[in-house]
Amino acid sequence: MTMKTKHHIPSEVLSAYSTGSLPEAFSIIVACHISLCDQCRAEVEAFDTIGGVLIDNEEMANIDLNSFEKTMKLIDKQDNSHLVPSLKSNDIYPTPLKNYFGGSVENIKWKSVGGGIKQAMLLNNKEASARLLSIPPGAQLPDHSHKGLEMTMVLQGSFSDEIDSFYRGDVELGDDHLTHTPKAGMDEHCICIAATEAPLVFNSWLPKLLQPFIRI
Ligand SMILES: [Zn+2]
Repeated sequence: MTMKTKHHIPSEVLSAYSTGSLPEAFSIIVACHISLCDQCRAEVEAFDTIGGVLIDNEEMANIDLNSFEKTMKLIDKQDNSHLVPSLKSNDIYPTPLKNYFGGSVENIKWKSVGGGIKQAMLLNNKEASARLLSIPPGAQLPDHSHKGLEMTMVLQGSFSDEIDSFYRGDVELGDDHLTHTPKAGMDEHCICIAATEAPLVFNSWLPKLLQPFIRI
């Protein structure tokens, strides 16, 4: 059974991904999500197209007041045939993720963090970190609030918290106002990828970017 993705990535984040201004840890999740979600991938393609057209227009000597309208007409004429259907796979780790553990699941360096919960760090730099989490069926993560933004996507199984239930491909976005207690579904281990903003980033761009969206 294929579940339809219910929890998508906000447009502001997709746009930042398209322009390359998203920290790598968050970009990994966007890349994984759009490998599973036609809707968000189409949105990223649209941002890519708009970005490309705007760059082309900047090279024109005289941009008149009708340039926006012309830009939109140009976009309408774009050939969207490259929007190939996504390659749905039973493999739980989407291709963009595989570079981070050398393509082989045996290379994933799982470490126990207690309660049967395991994590594997994929990336940790001054902006943000990305890790895999494996939560046994029915187990609950300890109460935690976030120091900065956290973005989590389910790769296998499911989890539920005070917000909703999340299945493969679903993304949950949390900020420092969200204290939640995610609990894995009973069927199987819940495997997620989570990106977390570095706790000591004071002048973070992400909260500003998402202000209208998550009411910080
Ligand atoms: Zn989506």
